[in-house]
Amino acid sequence: MRILIVEDEQKTAAYLKKGLTENGFVVDVANSGDDGLHYALTMQYDLIILDVMLPEVDGWTILSQLRSQSNMTPVLFLTARDKVQDRVKGLELGADDYLVKPFAFSELLARIRVIIRRGPQSKQDSLVIADLELDLLAHKVTRAGASIDLTQKEFMLLSLLLQRAGQVLSRTMIAEQVWDINFDSDTNVVDVAIRRLRTKVDDPFEKKLIHTVRGVGYVLEERDE
Ligand code: CA
Repeated sequence: MRILIVEDEQKTAAYLKKGLTENGFVVDVANSGDDGLHYALTMQYDLIILDVMLPEVDGWTILSQLRSQSNMTPVLFLTARDKVQDRVKGLELGADDYLVKPFAFSELLARIRVIIRRGPQSKQDSLVIADLELDLLAHKVTRAGASIDLTQKEFMLLSLLLQRAGQVLSRTMIAEQVWDINFDSDTNVVDVAIRRLRTKVDDPFEKKLIHTVRGVGYVLEERDE
């Protein structure tokens, strides 16, 4: 799980980074709004912890820029402000949560876990990579303009892969998300489903999008071949 912290107070940023790293997160820190926005738009994060009061580009501007570019990475606002109108503004702009400084680290951790479990808000209507497009509203998948028929599970599996494009997903994680149950790690249910999905999504096309990461799981991404 990768988290971006955008915080101009170096001490706070270092404290957060240390605590989150100790709890198993991979953490990047941006000390200015400009850097924060750049990181958020070029890297993939599971969560962005965003300070409101930043020099130059403030937290609200960053959030609205992200959302206007269909970047739905969950955002948790961190701020000294505690006025109700500020909180409302943050949530209206599409923040996932709001934490007022000073806070207990355990409180932050609990909020982070809830947000990450919930995943990105699905305000996007479609997910696209290369010439593959999945329309979440119409429940349709096309590749190179040609319609692809998928079963319900295959559609869910492809949605998950697309939502987490570029991230390696373990079989266990896929099983939990798509089938909503825990499989033994040696089960091949996920492998069978991936194979079926590949015959529809990848086999007829030259460029493969679903890749096996040996011993780990699967990743959907565009690779230069
Ligand atoms: Ca600040």
